[in-house]
Amino acid sequence: MDMKEVNAAPFIEVKDLEIIYKTDLETVHAVNGISFTLEKGQTLGIVGETGAGKTTTALSLLKLLPPRTGRVVNGTICVEGQNVMEMDDQTLREMRGGKIAMIFQDPMTALNPVMTVGEQIGEAILLHNADITKAQLQARVEEVLQMVGIPATRYSDYPHQFSGGMKQRVIIAMALSCQPAMIIADEPTTALDVTIQAQVLSMMRDLRDRLGTAMIMITHDLGIVAQTCDNVAVMYAGEIIETGTSVDIFCAEKHHPYTVGLFGSIPNLKVKTRRLSPIVGLMPDPTNLPKGCPFAPRCDKCMEICKTEKPGVYKNGTHQIRCHLYANNAEEVV
Ligand code: SF4
Repeated sequence: MDMKEVNAAPFIEVKDLEIIYKTDLETVHAVNGISFTLEKGQTLGIVGETGAGKTTTALSLLKLLPPRTGRVVNGTICVEGQNVMEMDDQTLREMRGGKIAMIFQDPMTALNPVMTVGEQIGEAILLHNADITKAQLQARVEEVLQMVGIPATRYSDYPHQFSGGMKQRVIIAMALSCQPAMIIADEPTTALDVTIQAQVLSMMRDLRDRLGTAMIMITHDLGIVAQTCDNVAVMYAGEIIETGTSVDIFCAEKHHPYTVGLFGSIPNLKVKTRRLSPIVGLMPDPTNLPKGCPFAPRCDKCMEICKTEKPGVYKNGTHQIRCHLYANNAEEVV
């Protein structure tokens, strides 16, 4: 066996992560003990309702939580074996954009209206390549523009001269300009119409396949999960309540009741079910989480034990479900 393989740390390794937002008035328990890994070239989909802790998790990977209120209170986040919480400012700056780039959901607000798109992409490149010559910079900007399907002749155009889909391509070009090993995309196509969404996604998949970029895709859209993600983590009230490969999530027989509600009826990979179905009831108050299973107040399968005891994890190969329903036939209960 190759010893290098044995010793290699995953690209991202998150263990037992807990994050709170603390103000004078209250403490919000946003992320409550999640663990996952991500290898280079893989895509992880993080799915769940608003307030489930998806974006907080993503921001913590880059140590970008709001400095006054956001706090990691337990667990570790490692990028290539290095603990993000212990990184100095210089290492963090190099990691943000250079190693991991983030694409936010609204292309309309992410671009500077008074700079040309070429200048903006150039700025992103300069941040991580201070020694680059002017000619090299121009060539690199033109190269990334072409990579995302924008003609180099549009270098000197301003954001208002681009459509919504083209603006999102510019944002992706900025993210790719430093050839990051990973991209975090937070609802990257929500602001776009369906046809443009499909084009932007297909371009992102193509770039991932060609460049071997790892991706975390935060989304509400089942179509995106099925088409783009190797693995999926379903989050609820700051916990990962079900995780597995896309095939586990879409095709396995057993699921967490929340996932079943979220997906309506679990669709086949070939069936076009694009949007998550609304589930009756609300997520628990994150300042006052219930003692047992956080989904208990909304769960039609809730048992007495669910109200008082945290469920363990049912494991079947790559598929894991955190629910008391499967406690008796769990391969391993954690
Ligand atoms: Fe429902 Fe109980 Fe499973 Fe929670 S642990 S999802 S309440 S059955």
